[in-house]
Amino acid sequence: MSVQKASVCPLDCPDTCSLSVTVEHDQVTAVQGSDANPLTRGAICAKVANYYPEFVHGANRLRHPMKRVGPKGESKFERISWDEALDIIHHRVGDVIARHGPQAVLPLNYAGPHGMLAGDSMSLRFFHRLGASLLSRRPLCGGIRGEAYAGTFGATPGTPLQQVSLAKLVIVWGNNATACNLHLMRHVNAAKRKGAKLVVIDPKRVKVAEQAHLHLAIRPGTDVVLAWALAVELERLGGFDHAFIHNHVLGFEAFMASAREYPTDVAAGICGVPAEDVRTLARWYLESTPAVIAWGNGLERNQNGGSGLRAIAALPALAGKFGVPGGGLVGGAGNAFPKTPDRLARPDLVPPGTRTINIIDVGNLLLDGDLDPPLKALFIYNHNPVIVHPGQNRMKQALARDDVFIAGIEVAMTDSMAYADVILPACTHFEHADVYPAYGQQYLQRADAVIAPVGESLPNTEIFRRLAARFGFDDPAFRTSDTELMDAALDAADPRMQGFRPSQIPTDRALRMEYDGAEPVLFGNVMPRTPSGRIELESAALGARYGSPLPTFRPVVSAYPLTLITPASDRRTTSTFGGLAANDATPVLEMHPADAEARGLRDGAWVKVWNDRGEVHLPLGITDAIRPGVVCSEKGAWFRTSRNGQTVSALAPAHKADLAEGACYNDARVEVAALQ
Ligand code: SF4
Repeated sequence: MSVQKASVCPLDCPDTCSLSVTVEHDQVTAVQGSDANPLTRGAICAKVANYYPEFVHGANRLRHPMKRVGPKGESKFERISWDEALDIIHHRVGDVIARHGPQAVLPLNYAGPHGMLAGDSMSLRFFHRLGASLLSRRPLCGGIRGEAYAGTFGATPGTPLQQVSLAKLVIVWGNNATACNLHLMRHVNAAKRKGAKLVVIDPKRVKVAEQAHLHLAIRPGTDVVLAWALAVELERLGGFDHAFIHNHVLGFEAFMASAREYPTDVAAGICGVPAEDVRTLARWYLESTPAVIAWGNGLERNQNGGSGLRAIAALPALAGKFGVPGGGLVGGAGNAFPKTPDRLARPDLVPPGTRTINIIDVGNLLLDGDLDPPLKALFIYNHNPVIVHPGQNRMKQALARDDVFIAGIEVAMTDSMAYADVILPACTHFEHADVYPAYGQQYLQRADAVIAPVGESLPNTEIFRRLAARFGFDDPAFRTSDTELMDAALDAADPRMQGFRPSQIPTDRALRMEYDGAEPVLFGNVMPRTPSGRIELESAALGARYGSPLPTFRPVVSAYPLTLITPASDRRTTSTFGGLAANDATPVLEMHPADAEARGLRDGAWVKVWNDRGEVHLPLGITDAIRPGVVCSEKGAWFRTSRNGQTVSALAPAHKADLAEGACYNDARVEVAALQ
C-alpha cells in the first residue's frame, strides 16, 4: 500500500519546492510537487521528479560506514562498523592535532542539502569546539551576490518572487530560469499574459530568451558596463527620480561619474550588444511601472561580478522603481527569515585567533608546504569538491596526498568520496526532520522524515553528535536533540513565525514571511538596513573590505580567445544526481557557427577544450544560440562522463572576484580544436 507524505526539496536551488512523496514499504517510489507552498504550487523540476527515488535507494547510495582499502581516488572500500569508523577518525584526527594543533583540521562542506539542521548545525558546533580552522564557504557561489546586495541594501528582503506577476516590465538578467529558477517562469508568464514586456540579458539564447520581447546577448563579465550605460540612458531621457535619490540614495554623484565614462555606444561595443537595444531597454524601463529585475547566479561568477550586481541594483534606485508591489529587484530572500545562526552553530565555542580559510583556496593550501599549521585532516560533507571547485586538477592532486586524512560524510558515493579514508553514510533529507528557509523565495517550511534511514545511515546531526561523544565533548551543546536544534535555528518570538515554534510549523503549509501582515515591499513596509539607512551606490563598508567603494570594471586579459561559461543544467542540481546512470552522457560544448568554421570543426565531433590549467574532451554542438566568442558547457558532470578524467572545473581560473573573494568560473578563457 502506498501513502503520500509531505516533504520539501532541500537542493541548492532558489525555489525550495514543497513535495508530495509516494512511499511504499518504506521506500520512496515517486516524488511530485505539492500545494503546501503556494509559490511552488504543485510543480517541480523533472530532475527531482525523475531521479530522487534512485538517488535514495539506488546502487550508488552509501549504506554502511566504510574504510578505504586501495589507493586514494580508486574507490576501493570495505564495510566497517560505526564504532570502528569513529575510532579510526578519532585516532587519525587526534594524531593530526597532537602533531600540528587543531587548526590542521578543516571542515570542507558546502550546500548539498539546504535544511538548516543538515546544513550547518551540530557539525559546526563540533568543529568550533574542536578548534578546527574555519571555512569561508560562500565564495564558491552566492557570496558575491550576498555582499553586493548587503552592501547596497543591507540585510533587508527584496521583492518576493511572486510579485513578478504584477510587473509591466520584467528583466531576467543572467538567469537561466527554466533550468534553475523554475517558478520565476510561472510569474513571468502571468505578467506577460497581462501585457508585460520581457527582456532577457544572457550570453546564450536560453529558453526564457526565446520568449522575450528583447534579448541582449551580452559578453560575459560586462554586466557592470551595461548597467552603467542604462543609467546614462535613463539620465539622458530625464528618467531619474530626483526626489527619491535625494531622500534615499547615497553616492549618486560618484556612481554616475563612473557610469558617464561609458556612454551607450562605447558600452555597447564592450558588451557586444546593439546600442539601439540598450536605448530601447532604457526607454521601456522608464515607461514601465512596476518594473522588476530578476537576476540569476551566473553573472556573479567573474572578476567584475560584484560590480555588475551593484550597478544593476542601482537602476531601480535611480529610476524610482521601489515602493510598489511588483517593482524593484528580486533578491535578498535569505534576509526574510528570522534566523538565529549564533544559537544554532555556536560560534562562541571557537577558540580566539582561529584562522578562516576561503573554500576556493583549499586545494592550493593542501599542497602548500609553507602553510603553518598545514592542513592535515579534512571532513568533506554536503559537498563534492573535485567536481565543483575551480582548479580541479590541483584539488585532485591535493586530495590524493597520503599524508592528509579525509573523513567523508555523504549520502552517495561521489568522485570526492573516492579519496576518503573513512566514509560515514548520511541520511537523505527524506530520512530526517528539518526546517527550510530559502534563498530565492520567502516561505518557511518544515518537513518530517518520510522513510526510516536507509541501511545504517544517520542524519548529519546524529553523526556529529557521535563524533563529539567520541572526542569526549560532553557539553550540553552536543546533547541537543534535533527538535531543540530546530528551535534554536529561528526566533520563535519574531512575528514572522506567526506564533509557531520552528519545530511545530505544520508540514502541510508554508509560512509566508510577512511584515505588518503583508509581503515585503522595499520602501513600503521594509527599508534598507545599510549603515546610512539609504541605498548605498557608494559603500564605505565594501570599500574598506575590498578596496573600492564603487563598482569597477576590469577586462579579462588572456592569450586564449574564447570565453567558457558553465551554467546550471536541467540534469543536475550543481553536482547532485551526477552519479546516476541517467547522467552518464558527456555534456556538449556549444559553439557559434562562425567560431566552429574558423577552426574547421564539425557538429558532433569530439573536441579538446584547453587552457593552462587543464584540458577537457567534449562533443561539439554548433548552435547560434550562443554568441560568437563564447563557448558553453554545463557544470556539475562527474568523472564518469569524462574521457580523460577532467571536467569543466579543470578550466576555471584561480583569480578572485571583486567582492567576497569569490570564484570566477565564467572568466575561463580557452581554445578549442578537433580531438585527434
Ligand atoms: S531542484 Fe529546485 S525546482 Fe527542482 S524540485 Fe528542487 S527546489 Fe524545486
